[in-house]
Amino acid sequence: MSNVFENAVKLVRETSQILEVERRYPGKQLVERFIVPDKVIMFRATLQKDDGTMDCFLCYRVQHCDMLGPYKGGIRFHPQVDLDEVKALSLWMTLKTALVEIPFGGAKGGISVDPASLTVSELERLVRKYTHRLVNDISPNIDIPAPDMGTSSREMAWIYDEYRKHREVARAVVTGKPVEIGGSLGRKEATGRGVVCAMMEAVKDLHLTDFTVSVQGFGNVGSHAALDCEARGIKVVAIGDVTGNLYSANGINISDLVKFRERTGGIKGFPGAEAVADVLTCKCDVLLPCAIENAIRVDNAERIQAKLIVEGANGPTTPEADAILKRKGVLVVPDILANAGGVIVSYFEWVQNREGFYWEEEEVNQRLFQRLQKAYRRVREFAEEKKVTPRQAAYCLALDKVFRATVARGVQ
Ligand code: GLU
Repeated sequence: MSNVFENAVKLVRETSQILEVERRYPGKQLVERFIVPDKVIMFRATLQKDDGTMDCFLCYRVQHCDMLGPYKGGIRFHPQVDLDEVKALSLWMTLKTALVEIPFGGAKGGISVDPASLTVSELERLVRKYTHRLVNDISPNIDIPAPDMGTSSREMAWIYDEYRKHREVARAVVTGKPVEIGGSLGRKEATGRGVVCAMMEAVKDLHLTDFTVSVQGFGNVGSHAALDCEARGIKVVAIGDVTGNLYSANGINISDLVKFRERTGGIKGFPGAEAVADVLTCKCDVLLPCAIENAIRVDNAERIQAKLIVEGANGPTTPEADAILKRKGVLVVPDILANAGGVIVSYFEWVQNREGFYWEEEEVNQRLFQRLQKAYRRVREFAEEKKVTPRQAAYCLALDKVFRATVARGVQ
């Protein structure tokens, strides 16, 4: 399996060469300082299950870099969570926030757990334990968690409440909360909406008018991206999740599929489409990988038929696959740009919490699209000017911003 942290570091080194960092800032060790996270927190949480037995879970919070503002990033609950993954995800958060110009650094947290294996009360106890252990490390001005894979507004509400118990009432300590306790309208949908916004910019560049979409993943990102496509009259022909893969040349009814998934727990067996082996390599014009890392690899990249890939997931393409896609002439809108919608609206939530003044959903969406479109154009222009891929361009723009801030802050 491709190591996501090593891959991220390799790309940082490679793009720092394009930026000529050593020549511009000799002796400052900016790249080495960037690669090593500011702080790694790792601990074991012991949980008493409902039946009285005990279980242990490995917990992480990696605070990667706060050069541009407080640490920011989600919390992932997944059995595959490990230190390297959380380190990579935290580094990507630093790049993401820098690229879309929001005043945050980068962090990520996680617990190596399958949330489906726990009851709701067990999960709540685990989230509260996790929060309690981190109570000195998070705050509205230090580190602000948010949802990621396997967590949602429910878990954020528990974090908020646990923080309140030990510290103070601080809505801005965590984002992605339920609207009832200060969550922003449009936050839940934001990542998926942002993916579609980036896709719309890219299809303009490619002069694609009538196009079909395939979505890998039907979690928060994939399902909202698919729903947004449906609302815009764009045909989603394929969707896959952990339970199965669907294809329908006439387009899948997404609203029906969401209801089906709510009823059955997965998309497998949905009557409105046929079951297929794979959604990454099926016939479509645009592919939205919205599931996990390393989905697009050497063993499937060659067979991908899409002309455009918009990365809803973090790190869905291995470097080897990236090279294949480049050779094939596939346009790849990189993760740190394409899926930044979530953290952008998290920023809006944090702003609204601190102001105590709340926006209409329309305003949230408008501001989201504005920021994403601007970032998209900057990436495309940089890529064209320097003859690099959009991914390299996005890394360059983000790193440049962090390095400038590091130098401006003087000797630390
Ligand atoms: N987990 C999301 C991401 O990977 C959102 C993070 C946030 O809102 O802070 O971008």
